[in-house]
Amino acid sequence: MIPMAFDYDRPTSVADAVRLLGTHGDGAKILAGGHSLLPMMKLRLAGPERLIDISQIPGMTGIRDDGSHIALGAMTTHRSVAESDLVQAACPALAETAAGIGDMQVRNRGTIGGSVVHADPHADLPALLVALGGEVVAEGPNGQRTIAADDLYTDYLTTSVTPDELVTEVRVPKVRQSAYIKFNRRSQDWAIVGVAAALTDKGARIVLTGVGSTPVRATAAEAAWNGSNAAEAAQQAAEGLNPPSDTSASGEYRSHLARVLTRRALEAAAAR
Ligand code: FAD
Repeated sequence: MIPMAFDYDRPTSVADAVRLLGTHGDGAKILAGGHSLLPMMKLRLAGPERLIDISQIPGMTGIRDDGSHIALGAMTTHRSVAESDLVQAACPALAETAAGIGDMQVRNRGTIGGSVVHADPHADLPALLVALGGEVVAEGPNGQRTIAADDLYTDYLTTSVTPDELVTEVRVPKVRQSAYIKFNRRSQDWAIVGVAAALTDKGARIVLTGVGSTPVRATAAEAAWNGSNAAEAAQQAAEGLNPPSDTSASGEYRSHLARVLTRRALEAAAAR
């Protein structure tokens, strides 16, 4: 339970953090809330030679109204997201999802940027971000770029954010008609399966967590949705899936959950 030795930096600007990432290459890791990275280091599943603690960089926290979007600093904690009046009004599914992450300690320390970049396939926010059609802003040696959530998740714990980039902001469209429903045994547990649904004039976007190595779009259910047929569309939610079996649930049970939770998520989103 003791991590390998590492060096530690605490930059005070985005430019300094990016410079440090560039200097130390793959051996360095950003430290945000530490609630995913530090457990992995203690279990020796990760062994970065250097941690770059971004907690002292001004401007990395906060939530602002950006017209059609809500812009959230990457270091904004789950608790701040859950308690934000703006998020509750403009995108209630985001506030509710943040409020349901882990326990109070996790929500007080864990950040939206860390959760989105860590890309755990059982995490809640990645699926919701894809369903909402959000994006992240990344700063690297060549300047700033925006990555659509659709292009973010490439594999297990892997995103298209490169090791020399720092995510500074997460942008979430104001989609009021959205919901995230997860199934777990105890309230603080990770989702066995979760479903995010977002309804706009372009149709439904339905994204599943816990059924593959990345958030998975339920495209057959999206195509079947006609604006009011939640039960019928949800029957297609496990189409093409091959969910893993493990000590939490069999693949077959995960497929069942995908259908049940898709119906509930569509109903909840449509009722807003
Ligand atoms: P860190 O642990 O600091 O970092 C995670 C990874 O992201 C690292 O690789 C780091 O280098 C990278 N990173 C972080 N920030 C940036 C950035 N700005 N730019 C580039 N790279 C960055 N999550 C859920 O979704 N649902 C749950 O129910 C849930 N339950 C939990 C229960 C427990 C007991 C614990 C310990 C965690 C739980 N989590 C859950 C995870 C929690 O939400 C984490 O806080 C989150 O996944 C990671 O955020 P962090 O700020 O702690 O990131």
